Amino acid sequence: MIRQFARYYRPHIKLFVADMLCAFMIAAVDLLFPITSRYAMQNLLPQNAYAAFFGVMGALAAAYLLRAGFQYFVNTWGHMLGVQMEADMRSELFRHLQTLPFRFFDKNRTGHLMSRVVNDLFEVVELAHHGPEDLFISALTLLGAVVIMLTIRWQLALLILILIPLILLFTVWRRKRMMKASRRVKERTAGINADIESSISGIRVARAFHNEAHEIRKFEEGNTRYRTAKRDYYREMGIFLSGLDFLSSIMNVAVIAFGGFLIMRGDLDYIDLFTFSLYVGTFLQPIRRLSSFVEQYTVGMAGFVRFRELMAVEPDIADAPDAAPLTHVRGDVEFRDVAFSYDEGIRILTGINLHIRAGETLALVGPSGGGKSTLCHLIPRFYEIEAGEIRIDGRDIRSITLASLREQVGIVQQEVLLFADTILENIRYGRIDATDAEVIEAAKKAEIHQDILAMPDGYQTYVGERGMMLSGGQKQRVSIARIFLKNPPILILDEATSALDTMTEAHIQAAFDKLSQGRTTLVIAHRLSTIRGADVIAYIDSSGIRETGTHDQLLKRNGPYARLYRVQYENMDILGE
Ligand code: ADP
Repeated sequence: MIRQFARYYRPHIKLFVADMLCAFMIAAVDLLFPITSRYAMQNLLPQNAYAAFFGVMGALAAAYLLRAGFQYFVNTWGHMLGVQMEADMRSELFRHLQTLPFRFFDKNRTGHLMSRVVNDLFEVVELAHHGPEDLFISALTLLGAVVIMLTIRWQLALLILILIPLILLFTVWRRKRMMKASRRVKERTAGINADIESSISGIRVARAFHNEAHEIRKFEEGNTRYRTAKRDYYREMGIFLSGLDFLSSIMNVAVIAFGGFLIMRGDLDYIDLFTFSLYVGTFLQPIRRLSSFVEQYTVGMAGFVRFRELMAVEPDIADAPDAAPLTHVRGDVEFRDVAFSYDEGIRILTGINLHIRAGETLALVGPSGGGKSTLCHLIPRFYEIEAGEIRIDGRDIRSITLASLREQVGIVQQEVLLFADTILENIRYGRIDATDAEVIEAAKKAEIHQDILAMPDGYQTYVGERGMMLSGGQKQRVSIARIFLKNPPILILDEATSALDTMTEAHIQAAFDKLSQGRTTLVIAHRLSTIRGADVIAYIDSSGIRETGTHDQLLKRNGPYARLYRVQYENMDILGE
């Protein structure tokens, strides 16, 4: 894992080396200060060498000025190193997500994926730049100081050598507890976020059921849990900080006490004691850093492991090595003995044989859950079939590049997803490089132009998150307009099941009719008008395709289709249509 992690430093190796050099210089200045002062005090003070003494002091001040410069570099550019690595990882992850199959998104929640792309990587990156810096500066300062002190007076240095590990142990121990508390705070924060998200997105439902009080109660519970977690965290932090302060003060006292004892015995002079005391002062920072490194390493590596896990998910649907693009498509679609299951062992489709000749319309009818949408999703290879083959113009779709395959297939889904943008841009999504005029032309064909003109800002009307501001029928026509722009030879229409008013239905039907002209069309049909007009009708339920034929043929056979048709027809009669 560490080797994998190190790979991300490679593109920024120059910055990394510069950062480490600066960190080294910072440690060097910290180490040099006490020993240089000691030299000046021991050798220059007794001779009253004013000029030399203040010269050395001036040099030390200059060294600290330089150190400030190095510190500036480490703080800004060290962080930038982290930020660049974060951006690299995030873009790698985002690109990877774009290649993952539907199957993956069926099983992973959006919120979790988002937190991986955003939060986890943040932790990783904190480790990426603080980790080496902290480890390096702290180890160098501590080790260097101990070595120097050993050469001055080893007895006193020994005392410090015993005390440092004790303090380190204390900090690591308390830090761990703090980390646990902080993890609880994070969990509770995530919980609160999830509560708020679900409450706000469900606010219309809450209002409709007059359940605001229930929502508030639910939220308050989460809020209380959060408050408790936060309190526990601050308790831990209080213990840690005061404990650390106490231990470092004790170290000072111990040094003066034992140093005083040595002075009384004539084994140490005041200047050396003063020098020791200065070194003890430089310890606090590195000790804190080392202990925070432990935490950073644990959290950051956990984030990195999760990142690698996601990156390791293989896009199971990819271009075959010898895949070739599909061009000049007529649009002949054929299913040969196709079998498919979402989860191993549960067959959704078996032995599917269908042939839709170029330009024809096939209507799929049957009970809900029979596999109609599933069958349609197999054509653009959203999911991979288990057995058999699907052919377009006689070519197995697995031998075609995914990009060109999906270019040939347009899908109008029941649930239309709109982006939080203007209606113009939402239609343009059908073909990103379409001009405004082309978008408007498509909107006209989709019978939504008039509706758009009536909107407050016309084509520039902002349609809100998920298109809240559009009616169901309007959303469907936006998605039809997208397909007009895309202009694919093969078309899949999933008709809305919900009852639309007669006017809207007429508009949509007219748009559908125009759209399917000259294209091979598979329609998941709920409306009688579509069913009757289809070239072939296939009745499909959980046991497969039960019958195929034209409307008249199937009515004559008096099978399941005829029964379904009569039920719908009678309902229509009751509604007076
Ligand atoms: P229809 O379009 O005829 O209503 P579907 O194709 O949507 O039927 O569903 C067929 C069967 O596949 C159903 O039993 C459904 O529960 C199951 N199914 C649909 N989508 C998924 C999915 N993404 N993962 C697992 N099972 C699914």
